[in-house]
Amino acid sequence: MQKHFYRAAIATLISTSAITPVAHADGIARTRSTAATASVSASAFTRLKQEFLVALWKQDPDMAMAARKYTDAAKLTLPDQATRDQYLKFIDRWLTHLLIVSSETLSVNDQTDLVLMRQYLEGTRWYLTQFREFEWNPTQHNIAGDYDAFLTETAKHLTPDTARSFRIGKERYEGKFKADIQSPFTAEQTYQRALAAKDEAHRNMEKLADQLWSKTMGDQPKPDDRVQKIAMVIAKLSEQHIKGEELFPAIRQQLPVLEKWIKDHDLLELDSKKPLIVRETPEYERGVTIASIEAPGIFRPHDNTYFNVTPFDGQSAEKIESTLREYNRWVLQILCIHEAIPGHYTQLQHANQSPSVIKTLFGNGAMIEGWAVYSERMMLESGYGENSPEMWLMYYKWNLRAVCNTILDYSVHVLRMTEVQAKDFLINHAFQTQAEADGKWQRVQYSSVQLASYFSGFSEILDLREELKKQQGDKFKLKQFHEQFLGYGSAPVGMIKTLMLNGSGVK
Ligand code: ZN
Ligand code: ZN
Repeated sequence: MQKHFYRAAIATLISTSAITPVAHADGIARTRSTAATASVSASAFTRLKQEFLVALWKQDPDMAMAARKYTDAAKLTLPDQATRDQYLKFIDRWLTHLLIVSSETLSVNDQTDLVLMRQYLEGTRWYLTQFREFEWNPTQHNIAGDYDAFLTETAKHLTPDTARSFRIGKERYEGKFKADIQSPFTAEQTYQRALAAKDEAHRNMEKLADQLWSKTMGDQPKPDDRVQKIAMVIAKLSEQHIKGEELFPAIRQQLPVLEKWIKDHDLLELDSKKPLIVRETPEYERGVTIASIEAPGIFRPHDNTYFNVTPFDGQSAEKIESTLREYNRWVLQILCIHEAIPGHYTQLQHANQSPSVIKTLFGNGAMIEGWAVYSERMMLESGYGENSPEMWLMYYKWNLRAVCNTILDYSVHVLRMTEVQAKDFLINHAFQTQAEADGKWQRVQYSSVQLASYFSGFSEILDLREELKKQQGDKFKLKQFHEQFLGYGSAPVGMIKTLMLNGSGVK
């Protein structure tokens, strides 16, 4: 749902050199306990970071390209053992440099950069030595053209000896979760938390459906089945949607409304100097999502930020109707909150106030998606949408996507959930359409852990806020919490939590 260039970096690396960034969650604690460390001045640390980046662009031209740094772009990385060995040497060399740096004298911004660099290197080593995806995942190889055709062809040659399940299994899942998400929770704990969140959402949705029943369904008898009852109210409400040609004007009108709400309710700072430009998604970027934020790379700070919206060109009337019902009058507002204000776009504006190439490159996906998902809840809690039962019901349906993505991903990869079970789960527990469930089943087969990032980040941000509320009592100010949280850049939530609970401010 969001496009920064490091996402592109990850995609590029997966398809070519089998490297994905990031790593372990205990970086800060380790920094403090390491014995033989040396203090480094701010300017020396800045030089060290620059040297690291120069070395990284050389070592990993794909990553440089994805970061829109084209100096070494002419070189090609071969996905072979020699390249991987060389990468491991690079990792060990730089870890040796970075492990002796004491973070105590560094600014918080530099401390988080230091931890992110180490985590990137350690995570990459885990990918290369433990996950070893290049040995078993066909998407690791460059395929020009039709991927399905490639898979079909590959499948013909598989024997019980060479075939390997797309399910990565418990051990790899926990390792990858630790490397990518960098949460203080394990994958299994996060899965359990998601199950509890799903039950809570269902309980709240039932109350809302009861409240809305006669208003939406008139005299129709209420079914006993909770899920059926909720689904009927959702279906009825979904009839309230814009016309296809109103999509762009509706989104353009929505953004200033959100800005005004945030200012009037003093929720966080907004920088309105550079407007967000709503445009049609460029054709080569059109995929499954209706909207995304496209931010300029850190080396091109003067480029515009775009809110890409995919127009309905060439789609059947039936497909358009289904999308419009999905992005009905309420969900369209939540989409704008998530993608733009105060979601991804606002988070990015804050991150850019203390620009860090390191954080832009190795920014934590669970923090970024978690913030966008958190911002939806926070807006509704502030009374946005008039606290109406319709808005809250649609919110919970939308939020269940994030919650159920986590449950689905873990269930499929670790608990061996079948295709039939998975689709039944999405349709009957997350109120998704058959088409959505089909698409999600595709996605869960060729990705792992990423689907868990939304709920992981969201639930940890919410926990952190509640913990700080308890700690600060009457002194807790929501705006101050948001400003401080966003001020650390796209660092992992667990790292921000440690810093905030210790009272380490950014400025
Ligand atoms: Zn998103
Ligand atoms: Zn309709």
